[in-house]
Amino acid sequence: MRALTGLDGQRSIGPDMSAGCANHRKRLLLLVPTTTYRTEDFMEAAGRLDVDLVVASERDNTMAARFPDNLLTLPFDRPEEAARQIETWAAGRRLDAVVAVDDAAVVAGAAIADALGLRSNPVAAASATRNKLVMREQLRAAGVPAPLFTSAGVAEDPAEVAQRVSYPCVLKPLMLSASRGVIRADTPGEFANAFRRVAAILATPDVAGSGAGADRILVEAFVPGAEVALEGLICDGVLDTLALFDKPDPLDGPFFEETIYVTPSRLPADTQAAVRDGTARAAAALGLRDGPVHAELRVNAGGAWLIEIAGRSIGGLCSRTLRFGTGMTLEEIILRHALSLPLGPTEREGAAAGVMMIPIPRAGVLRAVHGREEARAEPAIEDVAISAHLGQAIVPLPEGSQYLGFIFSRAATPEAAEAALRRAHAHLRFDIGP
Ligand code: ADP
Ligand code: CA
Repeated sequence: MRALTGLDGQRSIGPDMSAGCANHRKRLLLLVPTTTYRTEDFMEAAGRLDVDLVVASERDNTMAARFPDNLLTLPFDRPEEAARQIETWAAGRRLDAVVAVDDAAVVAGAAIADALGLRSNPVAAASATRNKLVMREQLRAAGVPAPLFTSAGVAEDPAEVAQRVSYPCVLKPLMLSASRGVIRADTPGEFANAFRRVAAILATPDVAGSGAGADRILVEAFVPGAEVALEGLICDGVLDTLALFDKPDPLDGPFFEETIYVTPSRLPADTQAAVRDGTARAAAALGLRDGPVHAELRVNAGGAWLIEIAGRSIGGLCSRTLRFGTGMTLEEIILRHALSLPLGPTEREGAAAGVMMIPIPRAGVLRAVHGREEARAEPAIEDVAISAHLGQAIVPLPEGSQYLGFIFSRAATPEAAEAALRRAHAHLRFDIGP
């Protein structure tokens, strides 16, 4: 093992990628979008397995030509083309598994797996998770409890659309993530404003260029209630719940900034069972069959309502809260599953754990971060990771798409893990200037 410079320029850990490809070792292809936060954790997990690692990114990498066995450039936004390129590359080479580390590569990953006969979700299922309107239609067809919905073209008259929807409702893009462009509206006036705001986000070059779905806006009934996130692994169509997170801060809008996640859930056992059942039904409805799932549901007196299900693991750096069996990480479970290596027990450790995605206080340029040492010194705090860099433009929701940073806690109880996050956060001060 040696340290590598990741494709995104960050330091990451991984196996020696210049090593020759001994035939007896399994070979793993990791699809790593340049925008992901997941590189380091997946590279570290791969480093703990005895595999030859191949890393593909969508951006041209000058190193790729020098390491054709280990570094590839692939068009993640054209899955069939990506699959064709890997078929050519894999002729005469052995490839045992492909894993997309994040949303932007899941369809390409499924297409590659399909072409090479590797373990993954079907392409249609991966595609359905990447388009919220398709997802809603398939959940409705299968009778999975989920919000009522309609959709409108971005070019439609917002005032007219506002007349044909019910309130309160939630407007959202079809293919973005991390709550970007998700806005609640309680009145036709709020709706028209929100509609224009989502349309403007969809018209920005990075979004408009990202492919299908940028021409419509989804409108859903607002589902009140507590929100949870389920982290799972599907093996041959059977869902194994790896962790269930409560989101103790109310998410009532108008924007839906993610903050605290705490596991294990404090919800009653029957509610947790309803969440698992809803997730399993949603996965089956979409045809998800093999790989990680991250689902978000809202629970209220009417039951558990599916907000979203993705064929990938939890985003940001949040997976660092999780430890399984004898110390396995979530990424190691995902890689072992894809490689058909023994998994062992996947029961989460006994302690409670939490993560806070640090709320963005205001827009501007990040000048300084104060109080990190004090935050880290709080009991039960494991780490304070500031992922934004000094000089970076900080953009709040609904337009923003990047995290300020993450606070991690581990404690005997969920209450203590949550309280530690709040105490640590109170020490942090962000100088955000013009
Ligand atoms: P994204 O892919 O950007 O995360 P989601 O559909 O998951 O988009 O929405 C982000 C957040 O917005 C959810 O976690 C939830 O808090 C809130 N939200 C989205 N849709 C609804 C809804 N229909 N009712 C209530 N809250 C919602
Ligand atoms: Ca979501």
